[in-house]
Amino acid sequence: MATIIVGGGASGVLAAAQLLLRGAEVTLLEPAVELGRGMAYSTKCPLHLLNVPAGNMSALPDDSEHFLRWLQSTRPGQYADCSFAPRGLYGEYIRSVLDEALRAGRGKFRHIRARAVGARVLPANVAIETESSDVLYGDAAILATGNAAQAGWPGLSTEVASSGRFFNSAWMEGAFETADRHAPVLLLGSGLTAVDALLALPHYGHRGKVYMVSRRGLLPQTHVLPVYRSIRQAHCARLRDLVRGMRTAASRTGALPAGWREAVDSIRPETNRCWQGFTVTEQRRFLRHLRPFWDTHRHRMAPQIGAVVQDSLRDGSLEILAGRTRGLRLVEDGVEVRIALRGCSETATLTAQRVVNCTGSDADLSRSINPLLRNLMEQGWLQPDPLRMGALADDRGALLPARGGWQPPLYALGPLRMGPLLESIAIPEIRVQARDLADLLMPE
Ligand SMILES: Cc1cc2nc3c(=O)[nH]c(=O)nc-3n(C[C@H](O)[C@H](O)[C@H](O)COP(=O)(O)OP(=O)(O)OC[C@H]3O[C@@H](n4cnc5c(N)ncnc54)[C@H](O)[C@@H]3O)c2cc1C
Repeated sequence: MATIIVGGGASGVLAAAQLLLRGAEVTLLEPAVELGRGMAYSTKCPLHLLNVPAGNMSALPDDSEHFLRWLQSTRPGQYADCSFAPRGLYGEYIRSVLDEALRAGRGKFRHIRARAVGARVLPANVAIETESSDVLYGDAAILATGNAAQAGWPGLSTEVASSGRFFNSAWMEGAFETADRHAPVLLLGSGLTAVDALLALPHYGHRGKVYMVSRRGLLPQTHVLPVYRSIRQAHCARLRDLVRGMRTAASRTGALPAGWREAVDSIRPETNRCWQGFTVTEQRRFLRHLRPFWDTHRHRMAPQIGAVVQDSLRDGSLEILAGRTRGLRLVEDGVEVRIALRGCSETATLTAQRVVNCTGSDADLSRSINPLLRNLMEQGWLQPDPLRMGALADDRGALLPARGGWQPPLYALGPLRMGPLLESIAIPEIRVQARDLADLLMPE
């Protein structure tokens, strides 16, 4: 079986490793030199930690201690199962999983450093076209294109966008290398990416004030360990059952060290089954009303990161505003931003030497600028999920074409499957998807 994988972040590399272990021929298309890092694990900042303890970050679903053993053999005595390891180190680990599969020597592997720009579905196989007009043929293709960059910011003028003072992503080259160490920086968003930026700025020498602005001004909650997983959450067929079940579970966990975190974590093994059972109306209701609270409780910060954030709030070096930006204007010493504050008729105005968009990735494929995804949508092989979160795919990850009927051998992996699954962006889900896809494509 010859498989083409588009995208060499954690998802693509884990799928490659699983396929190679089964003796497949794998071609991985990824423009970056280093495989396995992608958006999450490319960071060079040692303060950027995993937001999941090491004990639950194995890349192999059938070997839960794999990451821990790797840490203990490569960094003896430094990490335990409850440690939050640096994300850059995790990228090195993902690469090592691929190297291990290559050493097993059962499959064939090549990494082509190119971007895929188009695809053709042929009667017997799939052809993927690269930006340099090469055409690669495979029996199947896996789309592991991952976290898509934000298309822009509402109301952003070309003048501000091209001023060098607006960074549309926290992962853009130079986003944290401020010219004036003491002038304020404005971060759009107050989630985990904004927290990453807060940590990175002093690492690159910034000593001034940091503002975060988001609609509700909510910060991610902090981990408290240990989580005993002492309660089991029943399957919830309706959204209201889920809300009630969570409330009851949270009230029962008050005396435990992790408190309500027990309740949130208890639903994890059931989340995707519950999600798939909800009607589209319930899913939309969840996304509109509950998601901001779900996200801040479900995706938590490492305790040491939480402490830095609290210290920054206490000493005034960080200020969080709840509201919406109403206009960004270039002024002599930076960008002037007007913010309509939440819950009142007031508008705040502040001037920052730079503004960094920290709202994370954009899952809405109708706004995608990825040439391959656009090309597949134009041909009808790929259609956006109705919730605007990735692609429509079946339970195996196979794309559901707009015209219905025959399904081509095209599969989605990782963040692209967020709509049908909800939980599809973290390693505990990605590692299972990668193994299951390999089982599907290379049955024993
Ligand atoms: C900042 C951050 C921190 C996170 N922390 C954690 C954590 O602590 N624990 C956890 O479990 N999860 C975490 N996650 C979630 C999760 O691990 C990542 O989302 C995961 O790494 C997704 O990997 P990916 O390969 O699907 O996507 P990406 O990392 O986005 O990689 C996609 C790759 O595809 C390539 N690509 C895209 N289009 C094309 C194309 N047309 N042709 C060729 N190549 C293409 C890109 O160059 C990129 O390298 C985090 C995510 C982020 C963003």
